[in-house]
Amino acid sequence: ASTLRLVLGDQLNPQHSWYGHHHDDVVYIMMEMRQETDYVLHHAQKVIAIFAGMRDFARGLLDAGHRVHYLKIDDAANQQSLTKNIDALQTIYQSSEFEYQMPDEWRLEQQLAEYGRQKRMACRVVDSEHFYTHPDDAGTFFAGRKKWLMENFYRHMRTHHQILLEADGKPVGGKWNFDADNRKSWKGNPSEPFDNRVLHDHSALWLSIQQAGVATFGKAQATQLAWPLNRAEALQQLDAFIEHALPYFGDFQDAMSAQAWRLFHSLLSFALNTKMLNPREVVTRVELAWRQGNVPLASAEGYIRQIVGWREYIRGVYWNQMPGYEKNNTFGHVAPLPEWFWTGETNMRCLSISIGDSLAHAHAHHIQRLMIIGNFALLAGLDPHALHRWYLGIYIDAFEWVELPNTVGMSQYADGGLLATKPYVSSAAYIDRMSDYCKGCHYDKKLRVGEKACPFNALYWDFFTRNADQLAANPRIGMVYPQLNKMAQQDIDALQARASDLRSTLDEL
Ligand code: FAD
Ligand code: SF4
Repeated sequence: ASTLRLVLGDQLNPQHSWYGHHHDDVVYIMMEMRQETDYVLHHAQKVIAIFAGMRDFARGLLDAGHRVHYLKIDDAANQQSLTKNIDALQTIYQSSEFEYQMPDEWRLEQQLAEYGRQKRMACRVVDSEHFYTHPDDAGTFFAGRKKWLMENFYRHMRTHHQILLEADGKPVGGKWNFDADNRKSWKGNPSEPFDNRVLHDHSALWLSIQQAGVATFGKAQATQLAWPLNRAEALQQLDAFIEHALPYFGDFQDAMSAQAWRLFHSLLSFALNTKMLNPREVVTRVELAWRQGNVPLASAEGYIRQIVGWREYIRGVYWNQMPGYEKNNTFGHVAPLPEWFWTGETNMRCLSISIGDSLAHAHAHHIQRLMIIGNFALLAGLDPHALHRWYLGIYIDAFEWVELPNTVGMSQYADGGLLATKPYVSSAAYIDRMSDYCKGCHYDKKLRVGEKACPFNALYWDFFTRNADQLAANPRIGMVYPQLNKMAQQDIDALQARASDLRSTLDEL
């Protein structure tokens, strides 16, 4: 009798304790499946990179002397369903035991738990040994609170894990958070770091994905795939980030530019979410870079906040709120996504660039996701569930545990403010301040009404007018309602009329 150990496509961590010992009776099983390619329409690079990463991982296990059974997308024996494949492998290997690492997604966790209940084999779930926290830690931390303030959780994490602390337990630099220093726009200096990522030719894999009938969208870049496909490449990327981009990460964290799609972001989310990298090693390296005097504290702190703060917190929200979180729709928004979400072809330059980057690279940085695409979606009243499916498909790093709370909670405020302290929306003024998108746009950032007026402007005022009942009392919203109260009714009427026109012609914008 043997034991089957399942390795999912986002569990590519060669340092997991599973691999520390060789057991002749253990067979590692990995499978490329239509079940996983088809639950949402994915970006081509995402499917290629995950399969290529899995194949690389399986080769590594074989080289290290482990037994591996790998099912490719076009293998005749592949039944394209997780549980059917496990059943078939159980028969082949006469297995009496089945083990799996805790999946990150509700969908898979449920499927495997249900499989375990059927008791065809003794089933055992082990930790994925990746995150700092357990799925229910954030829920315990926030128990009984209506608002889940990330900042409170983040300070707790810093203290608990001894990160960026003085010997007396106080935060280094005298403050927990240097966010206020992270709001510069970027005018071309310093220049964007050279993209040193290894390019892979995966055209044969891409052909087999297409021949298997998997539908995708976005640019495949199969001959020049730039995502790290194993731990060694991910570590190389981490080194390069710390040396060339981290020093400026803090200053330009919120900046956007048509000249530089990556700016000073790390592009490490894919390697982290597939577990090629461990968040602890990333945090340790970043803290060390600051302690050695190589990067400013605002950069190190800003980056570490994303990893031990946001990333762990978002995961805690997910496990606390599932199932059902994806159904939240506090504003009752129902508009379908405009056609140009799939092509980038819109006259709004900020959206054309941000969606264009997403289609080209399977990536857009945080402010593009939040303050361009998400901002527009919320102002225009797009259906948050349809938007969730778009975000889940398009980004290389999109796995539901991290994508869903970011989309439905942080960006769409569709959970009524559990996660975000206010709706993240803006008019053109903010976009113009933080980017070079408005120069050369078909629309005029200064105008509020009329054919040429930037759509964000009327939609912004209309959003707050429409939702005054829910939002006017929110102290974080600041000057919006006093400004609205000072506006003449006829101006508000004109803004609302323009917003209504815009909403009925979204495809043509
Ligand atoms: P950097 O800017 O270099 O940040 C470093 C790391 O911090 C990231 O790699 C990521 O692991 C972590 N991080 C930063 N912000 C967040 C956050 N809000 N939540 C969780 N982790 C964070 N991130 C994903 O990993 N997967 C997603 O599917 C995803 N969907 C998003 C959807 C929306 C609407 C928004 C607003 C944000 C989303 N994010 C998602 C968060 C963030 O935009 C990405 O993590 C980031 O852009 C990845 O690029 P990077 O590695 O260069 O990030
Ligand atoms: Fe975007 Fe409006 Fe600026 Fe055009 S003018 S880039 S639509 S914010």
